[in-house]
Amino acid sequence: MNIILFGPPGAGKGTQAQFIVKKHNYFQLSTGNLLREEVKLKTPLGYEIEQLISNGKFASDETVNALLRKSITNLKYRDRIIFDGYPRNVKQAKNLELILAEFDQSIGHTIFLNVSKDIVEKRIMGRMTCDKCNMTLNEFFNKEQIELHPCGKDHLKKRKDDNFDVVVARYDTYMKTTKPVLDFYSNNTNFTEINGADEIEQINNKINGVLNV
Ligand code: AMP
Repeated sequence: MNIILFGPPGAGKGTQAQFIVKKHNYFQLSTGNLLREEVKLKTPLGYEIEQLISNGKFASDETVNALLRKSITNLKYRDRIIFDGYPRNVKQAKNLELILAEFDQSIGHTIFLNVSKDIVEKRIMGRMTCDKCNMTLNEFFNKEQIELHPCGKDHLKKRKDDNFDVVVARYDTYMKTTKPVLDFYSNNTNFTEINGADEIEQINNKINGVLNV
C-alpha cells in the first residue's frame, strides 16, 4: 500500500519517511528531492525550478506531475511509495487519485504531522541535509551526530530555501494552499493525525503503530 506523509515544511516528513523506508522497505518519493536533483543537473528547467524554490514558490504542477508519474509507473516501487511533499494543493491531490487509479494502485494511509509555525521555524533554521544519503540533521540538536555522520560532515549542507524569509513564505503558502488538501483526506478512515511536535522516536513509534494495524 502507498502512504502519504502530510504536514507543513519542517514537520519531519523526510525524517519519518526515512525510518519507514528502512523498517518497511519502502521508497520515499520526495518531490522536493526530485526537484533539487533537477536543479543539480543545471538544465534550463533546473534553473527555472531553482528560481522558484529559492523564493519559496511552488514548481509548476506540470513539472511535478511529470516527475511523479515516472516513479509511480516504476514497477520496483509499486504499492511501496511514501509520498513526501506531494500533494501540495487540491489539484495535485486530484491528479494523484487519477494516476494511481490508472495504474491500479491506491493510498493505504494518510498521516498528518501537525506542528505549529514556531516549531517549524526552529527546526528549519537548523536543518542540514546530506547530499549523499539525504539524511536530515539539526545543527542545534544533533551536534554529535553531525561530527560522526558516516558520509562525512562536509556532505551535510544547508538548503538555500532554509532562510528565515523563505521559511515564513513557505509556511504561509502551506496555510493557504496546502492545508485545504486536508479536507480531501481527513474524513477517510485511513487518515491519522499525529502530533509532529513530539520527539522523533515517539512519532516514529506512533507511525509504526498505524502501519502495522
Ligand atoms: P520540500 O523538500 O518538500 O520542503 O520542498 C522544497 C520546495 O520544492 C518547496 O518549497 C517547493 O518550492 C518545491 N516543491 C516540492 N514539492 C512540490 C510540489 N508537490 N509542488 C510544487 N512544488 C513543490
